[in-house]
Amino acid sequence: MPNSNVNPYDIVLEQLDGAVRRLRLDENIHTVLRHPERALVVSVPVIMDDGRVEVFEGYRVQHSSARGPCKGGVRYHPAVTLDEVKALAAWMTWKCAVAGIPYGGAKGGIKCDPKRMSKGEIMRMTRRYTVGILPLLGPEKDIPAPDVNTSAETMGWIMDTFSMFKGYAVPGVVTGKPVNIGGSLGRREATGRGVMYVTNELLKRLERRPEDTTVAVQGFGNVGSVAAAQLAREGYRVVAVSDYSGGVYCEHGLNLESLLRYAQEKGDGHLCDYDGEGEHLTNAELLALDVDLLVPAALEAQIHGGNAQAVRARWIVEGANGPTTPEADRILADKGVIVVPDILANAGGVVVSYFEWVQDLQALFWDEDQVNAQLERIMRRSFAEVWQFAQDRRLPLRDAAYMLAVNRVAEAIRVRGIFP
Ligand code: GLU
Repeated sequence: MPNSNVNPYDIVLEQLDGAVRRLRLDENIHTVLRHPERALVVSVPVIMDDGRVEVFEGYRVQHSSARGPCKGGVRYHPAVTLDEVKALAAWMTWKCAVAGIPYGGAKGGIKCDPKRMSKGEIMRMTRRYTVGILPLLGPEKDIPAPDVNTSAETMGWIMDTFSMFKGYAVPGVVTGKPVNIGGSLGRREATGRGVMYVTNELLKRLERRPEDTTVAVQGFGNVGSVAAAQLAREGYRVVAVSDYSGGVYCEHGLNLESLLRYAQEKGDGHLCDYDGEGEHLTNAELLALDVDLLVPAALEAQIHGGNAQAVRARWIVEGANGPTTPEADRILADKGVIVVPDILANAGGVVVSYFEWVQDLQALFWDEDQVNAQLERIMRRSFAEVWQFAQDRRLPLRDAAYMLAVNRVAEAIRVRGIFP
């Protein structure tokens, strides 16, 4: 369930203001960063299967292009709002800066319920939305990718629609597309794999071993399911996973293969009906489990002022964007919980998106080992930089990551100057 009590853009501003204060950053640059560069709202009429026309509201927000073309996913969800998309776009700006890849941040979304739409309806909605935001898109301008409830298939439709208007194939306009039309090997697994690399780095610093580490993962979509499987493969004991319907718990470790097969067969999770090994639990119970590591990999604001006190995990690695509110952050910090923030922990997706875009522009494709090796290198480097910065200044990892990111973006604005 999305948490509707919090406006995510207020969270963005609070986080930005904090970083600016600690950095003693120029107030003029601060003002620029508080506002997205561009936000477009489009009406998306769709002929539904029964002949009725339904009009959906779609958004594309570009927060910053200071460090390069705007980059970020597109999500389909009933709770999508302009402020949510603005927040997600800003988080993309910081994420690309932390990872040190040459992009600014963007995000798109359509307020709709794809679980109640046919594939044909979703395809027509995607194509019409693409035409609505067409003037913003392009490999040098703004490059969408998958996010909540969108996939390689969705990206294929966006790529095709954009290419039809150009008159030739433009693979570099989206990432996360099918491999046979210019997608990258390893892109689908990249965010979950990145979560695993970052977790390994955290454990090394804490001198702990995966075998002695219990894990609970909230969310069983493209991030949560892959992260859980990757962590289990590394030897972590993944004891609980959940999706929007509820979750499964098994003290000695879940059978991830069986859970993945179940989720794939069902098409759309529904773990509350899973009848394999384990006991059922609610999302609230999962977040309060006595585990070493909690990986929130669902939606924003899942850990908030009302439930942060109940969290018993000692470490949190954020697979989702914005899963912890600032109020919860303060409670967790008082409890001594180490939080590896979203803009570092889930950057693996956009890092391999960057590799995909580079491959498209060069029309030269990498093998999967090369993709994974380069992903690991960037995740380890980013983690090391944030960790060191935090150690030197005795700061939580989130504050360190924000200071690094905001400073990089601010520096780009400073050297470019404010036009005219
Ligand atoms: N939607 C993903 C994210 O939030 C990936 C974005 C991208 O690859 O552009 O990071």
